[in-house]
Amino acid sequence: MEKKENILIIGAGLCGSLLALRLGQRGYKVTVMESRPDLRKVDISAGRSINLAFSDRGIKAMNMVGIADKVMPLCIPMHGRLVHDVEGNTFMSNYSGREGEYINSISRGDLNALLLTEAEEHEAVNIHFNKKCTGVDIENNVASFYCYETEKDIEFTADVIFGADGAGSALRKSYYLERKFLFSYSQNYLTHGYKELSIPPTATGGFRTEKNALHIWPRGDYMIIALPNLDGSFTVTLFLSYDEGEYNFNNITTPERVQEFFEAQFPDLLPLIPDLKKEYFENPTAPLGTVKCSPWSYKNNTLLMGDAAHAIVPFYGQGMNASFEDVVVLNEVLDTHEGDWEAVFKAYEKTRKKDTDAIADLAIDNYYEMRDHVANPIFKEKRKLEMDLEKNFPEQYFSKYSMVTFNEDIPYSKAMQIGRAQDKALLNMIADDEIDTTEDLHAILKKVQEETNEILEED
Ligand code: FAD
Repeated sequence: MEKKENILIIGAGLCGSLLALRLGQRGYKVTVMESRPDLRKVDISAGRSINLAFSDRGIKAMNMVGIADKVMPLCIPMHGRLVHDVEGNTFMSNYSGREGEYINSISRGDLNALLLTEAEEHEAVNIHFNKKCTGVDIENNVASFYCYETEKDIEFTADVIFGADGAGSALRKSYYLERKFLFSYSQNYLTHGYKELSIPPTATGGFRTEKNALHIWPRGDYMIIALPNLDGSFTVTLFLSYDEGEYNFNNITTPERVQEFFEAQFPDLLPLIPDLKKEYFENPTAPLGTVKCSPWSYKNNTLLMGDAAHAIVPFYGQGMNASFEDVVVLNEVLDTHEGDWEAVFKAYEKTRKKDTDAIADLAIDNYYEMRDHVANPIFKEKRKLEMDLEKNFPEQYFSKYSMVTFNEDIPYSKAMQIGRAQDKALLNMIADDEIDTTEDLHAILKKVQEETNEILEED
């Protein structure tokens, strides 16, 4: 059934294209304006990070719009972190002790292209490219765009405007520039930035290292990760400080210094990246930040979604998954409040904000965990114990990582609260030698649960 309202979505990235598809399915007339060219026609990088970790919250969103069967063939399962030490030794740390729980590597471009095509199947969804939003008159619902093709400015009026235009959102900027209401906003950068490199496929299109894992080279002050692509290549991401420590982006400025850094710190990776020096100097270095803001909406006119409302650092592999979950939550809220956009926006933010704040904080925690702790003996013992507990008590024990990544029905805020208490309990008990690993696992589970409950009560 077609609805009367004209919806404008700014941004046809991962969140905007899924939102367009869902609102199209719900019968709205949807116009999407995207600043970049159509990535299905022009060979452009789809934006930050070539591939992404895609997990259960994202899969739930794909099920909601009925395209999970088309998305899953684009995925490469990653069963755990394959940790590489400085000597080139590796160990696998699984993501879960339960059968069938793993994350997936997916190409941002392939997924975005699929979502755009699915959205356009709906006659009432129209997507326009090369139109950059330059500002929004939030009182009168008029968005201004610069059209790269005609080199002209245009205006577009809609009944409702969604800002799904990413971390640098033009709608969000209009919120504080227009000063129509009290708008709180924070943007916090890490001292580290990132740079993408690549491991090419073998001559026969094979993988040069283990395919079904997320590779990590943790080195305390910095780290590298690598995720597989369907063509046999890996996208490698170096996370490094801009200006602190012995090695940093500001002091690695010559090919010799790049070689020295990789020889000293990543000797097993060096032969896998034949174009290392070229890529290091040609590929951009980009910052990593967290954006929090509130409120996300203005009256019944506009709403921010995805990274535009809550950009997070990438260390939990949840930014895209959370942005997809935004659309799932909005869809549920529409089921109750459809017809009253102000009520929809208020109910949506009330449900959602605490969860996106939680995943933002968890992502920062994981930055330290991946860099500093994955190779630490107490941390390794904790992960091993958690795997055993999940394997033996699949219905009773869920690690923080499992709750965030595989339990799409547990809100992020709850996963954070229980997960942090559980981590504290386990780490304290291991450090104080209170866990005897020869003990019956039942007894260990009971101890961990009691200790976790005590911590939760104290908090
Ligand atoms: P975006 O993907 O940024 O899309 C915004 C869209 O709006 C773009 O198409 C852009 O061109 C367009 N746009 C921007 N400005 C305008 C304008 N003024 N006018 C019109 N259009 C505009 N998440 C995961 O879940 N798993 C991961 O493994 C993961 N890894 C990551 C690795 C890195 C290095 C980074 C930086 C992020 C990672 N993320 C990951 C996070 C993920 O990329 C984002 O959360 C996700 O892209 C958010 O989707 P979005 O649609 O809200 O924003």
